[in-house]
Amino acid sequence: MMQTKRKAKVSSAVVVFILAAIVVIIQNIPSGVTVTRVIDGDTIEVKMSGETYKVRLIGINTPESTTRVEPYGKEAAEFTKSQLLGKKVYLEKDVSETDKYGRLLRYVWLKKPSELTDSEIRTKMFNAILVLEGYAQAATYPPDVKYAEYFAKYEAEARESSRGLWALENSSPKNLNRIVYWTSNGKSYHYSKDCPRLSRSKIINQGTLQEAIDIGKSDPCDFCVK
Ligand SMILES: [Zn+2]
Repeated sequence: MMQTKRKAKVSSAVVVFILAAIVVIIQNIPSGVTVTRVIDGDTIEVKMSGETYKVRLIGINTPESTTRVEPYGKEAAEFTKSQLLGKKVYLEKDVSETDKYGRLLRYVWLKKPSELTDSEIRTKMFNAILVLEGYAQAATYPPDVKYAEYFAKYEAEARESSRGLWALENSSPKNLNRIVYWTSNGKSYHYSKDCPRLSRSKIINQGTLQEAIDIGKSDPCDFCVK
């Protein structure tokens, strides 16, 4: 009797251990997975161990291309398809396992990084590449913020160079959500915080064009706003 109980205990411990091991493997995913479908710019399907999982690329947001179509949504979806479909990728988890739709929340690496430096991130991590190429905006959803500073920097780069969706954004002067810069004294708003007209200002304020207009910064700078 004692013997059987003990055996049962041992084997349930083994089962728990195996389950824990499976969970760890799913969380860290040391080996590559294959992208079997691209749903939109920031959502893909991957196959691992015979199972299909939906994956939401985190830290970023591409314009919608499925239920409703936003400007540049189709282009973002096409770009992701061209870069990822059928490819082997490496998934990195931040804090959250899944979102409320059950999608895995992950950074998608085209190649495993040898170290986590700016140049590795910008060349090998697809989330970063989407932002750098102007297919996505940086989007911070705590607690998954490991690369938030990099994404914000890459978005500023894409915006300054009018890449991808920023070309549309920047060519539409009436876009009240775009980020502009101003000083407390001037009446102008600026598209670039590096504008020479701002070079003497110690404090540069940042906000949407709507916010700038609301506080009386209604003149477009004649140097950086064309
Ligand atoms: Zn300016």
